[in-house]
Amino acid sequence: MLQLATLNAASQAEFTALLDGVYEHSPWIATRAWSLRPFATLAALKHALVQTVRDAGHENQLGLMRAHPELAGKATVAGTLTAESTSEQSRAGLAHCTPEEFARITQLNATYTARFGWPFILAVRGPRGVGLSRAQILATLQRRVDHPADFEFAESLRQIHRIAELRLNDKLGFEPELGNTVWDWCEQLAAHSEPAWAEKGELTTTYLTGAHRACAADIAAWMRDCGFDSVEIDAVGNVVGVYHGPDPHAPRLLTGSHYDTVRNAGKYDGRIGAFIPMACVRALHRAGKRLPFGLEVVAFAEEEGQRYKATFLGSGALVGGFNPQWLEQRDKDGISMREAMRHAGLPAELSAIAALRRDPAQYLGFVEVHIEQGPVLNALDLPLGIVTSINASIRLVGEIIGMASHAGTTPMATRRDAACAAAELALFLERRAAADGDSVGTMGLLEVPGGSINVVPGRCRFSLDLRAPTNAQRDRLRDDVLTELAAVCQRRGLRYTVEETMREAAAPSAPDWQRRWEAAVAALGLPLHRLPSGAGHDAMKLHTALPQAMLFVRGENAGISHNPLESSTADDLDLACAAFNHLLEQLATS
Ligand SMILES: [Zn+2]
Repeated sequence: MLQLATLNAASQAEFTALLDGVYEHSPWIATRAWSLRPFATLAALKHALVQTVRDAGHENQLGLMRAHPELAGKATVAGTLTAESTSEQSRAGLAHCTPEEFARITQLNATYTARFGWPFILAVRGPRGVGLSRAQILATLQRRVDHPADFEFAESLRQIHRIAELRLNDKLGFEPELGNTVWDWCEQLAAHSEPAWAEKGELTTTYLTGAHRACAADIAAWMRDCGFDSVEIDAVGNVVGVYHGPDPHAPRLLTGSHYDTVRNAGKYDGRIGAFIPMACVRALHRAGKRLPFGLEVVAFAEEEGQRYKATFLGSGALVGGFNPQWLEQRDKDGISMREAMRHAGLPAELSAIAALRRDPAQYLGFVEVHIEQGPVLNALDLPLGIVTSINASIRLVGEIIGMASHAGTTPMATRRDAACAAAELALFLERRAAADGDSVGTMGLLEVPGGSINVVPGRCRFSLDLRAPTNAQRDRLRDDVLTELAAVCQRRGLRYTVEETMREAAAPSAPDWQRRWEAAVAALGLPLHRLPSGAGHDAMKLHTALPQAMLFVRGENAGISHNPLESSTADDLDLACAAFNHLLEQLATS
């Protein structure tokens, strides 16, 4: 088996020869990456190869893509593929396509190549490394043939790096064991989906439904298997596992994330935040090791606010944030939260829920690992990112009121068009938010009530969702947008109303905890990338009581989330486990 030390000691020619076949017919990548030695870790070697391709420019990248064979193409049939490609394609069963599948792949391949100018490239061994099915491969080809060309160019390169990653793992005899465990748990937990969604093969697990309770039971059972000392399902349905230090009363590190999902969800959102620490505890327990502090892992029952309007219910309960009125709230079938809790065997009593509040003096802090749910890390080819702050947000709804009039007879100069004013505001928002670099602003609802094709819009309703890493930055954005709204309406002779419907403070990472994540990522041999979180997370709630910091894991498919295409590789999850372990070691030795 090839050793990293051998690669680090190799001459340029030896190095290139040792990495032959990692990148298809493209030895120049290894030749150039040689100068970046020594590599402290396999992850650092992988990153150096990726960086070499990033730095090589468009023409070289295109050449690399064109060096790849067509999937199930002529070369597959004629048996003229490289050894690596032959093994991968045959593992995916591509050598055994039915005539219909083969015809479909051939046709899609032809359309794809004609559109983009390079062959369809896919890491057919997939995110777990064990192979995609022919149906999955066909569905991916079908989906990607419609991508914009620049998007598909980037996706093809990412697939090439994933192929290289798996080939390197083989050469160096590396198995991402903890990552595989986490990936498999995500897959198994996703088997529990609410019936109407399960029928369509979709994942939906909302608060205290049958599927949700089955998840809690599985997580609790897996925690026991891992060797946690105590495992319980608490009064709001959180699954809580504690791995004691030498003294059960010593302060604990708190960690975790949610296991509920949105409708038609991905399998990784929230869940990896419980599974990654669980995998670490399992490894500790198997090695007979204890930490000098306790580790409390919570799989939060509710974060997404889907069945009841009670977002962050699970983590909120730990900081005294459970609103008593929620118990009376009814879902769309008329079932109150109190009834749902009783049905689930929970006490449904406020005293029991209030007792979940944690005493901050008993905890060192809170950390959360979460899939990024955005495209940043994927575009940078970085598996991990360090969160600087969970963005402050504010939501507003408004209406611009003009004058509805005949589209044919009203001259342009005398119109009072409410929709045009809203359009001006939308474009201002786009420019203004972009000017901050890390603010975001969205007008997600835009509607002309009772509008008609031949009527100048007399009313236009709109929403504003504004987010920024600090409260002050968010407030400046809001002030500028509202000033512009007033100015646009003044100039056009319109009235408006606007109302704030939601406001959340920023949750900046605690500097010493952010530094621990940074040290952990650096120890893996990976560059540090710091980024704010645009989405809300459980850490926002814990932030009110404890110092907190989050680690993001790259999402595949351009980081798409709240979507079944959300994905993560076992290798990236394994790096997240290693980072979590490193953070534990830092705490243990500090
Ligand atoms: Zn989440």
